[in-house]
Amino acid sequence: MLTLALDFGGTKLAAGLVDAEGTVLAEGRATSPPDAAAGYAAMLALARDLLGGAADRPLACGVSFGGPVAADSRTVRRSMHVPGWDGAPLADWVERDLGLPCAVANDADAAALGEARYGAGRGAALLLYLTVSTGIGGGVVAGGRLFRGARALAGELGHQCLDPGGPPCSCGRRGCLEALAAGPAIARSAGMADARAVAEAVARGEPGARAAWERAMGWLGIGVANAANIINPDRVVIGGGVAGAGELLLAPVRAVAAARCLDPELRVELAGLGPRTGLAGAAAVAPAATGGVP
Ligand SMILES: [Zn+2]
Repeated sequence: MLTLALDFGGTKLAAGLVDAEGTVLAEGRATSPPDAAAGYAAMLALARDLLGGAADRPLACGVSFGGPVAADSRTVRRSMHVPGWDGAPLADWVERDLGLPCAVANDADAAALGEARYGAGRGAALLLYLTVSTGIGGGVVAGGRLFRGARALAGELGHQCLDPGGPPCSCGRRGCLEALAAGPAIARSAGMADARAVAEAVARGEPGARAAWERAMGWLGIGVANAANIINPDRVVIGGGVAGAGELLLAPVRAVAAARCLDPELRVELAGLGPRTGLAGAAAVAPAATGGVP
């Protein structure tokens, strides 16, 4: 089955044609315009280009969106990056303009579905996905479907409070996992430009960077164990930019999570989709548009 995948990121737009294995067969990219109307128009142009050049017509469209999405999987609540998206009926627009059934998920949920269907979560009956980048997001996939909760807020692992008197968080509270262990928190704690610079300094053996890194990895491990003790997933997959550090992240998070999780068989793995995450994740959302299970 061929799927049209649309990825509305913070600074970039991407559209792709994705096959049943999650391989991106063709894609187009653009810089994200500064408002919703222009962003949608630019995405529509990318999609029409792809559809015009495609030998086969996709059967459905899946969207990964950088912001919260309503429980109907059709309506954007708001964008975390671009003004004007509040309440936008994005799936309706896509169906009207491209004639394809469409479903929308936020980017962390889409990445979770993508990992479950095509990546490191394949074969897991209950997958807990965690993305660690400028924020910390997450998603839970049970039996191939997103577990979204009453108002589509399940899996917000980044906003579990680990230190009530801790640093302020993007959500307005204090001491959330995100405020302690996302990329900006790691950089701040090490006094460096970004988390990548900290990881490189750790690899070179700089003690200050190592201390900041180990602290953040400790918080991540606790966050993973807390969530695992609640839902007992058969696999935890960690993606996002900070997870690009590979073993440097995986080894300490695994060790801390194993020490605190009640299930001795908990598996923690790195995400497998890498640069394909946005489009493969969006494609994995598409079956929801036609009522199918991936
Ligand atoms: Zn928070």
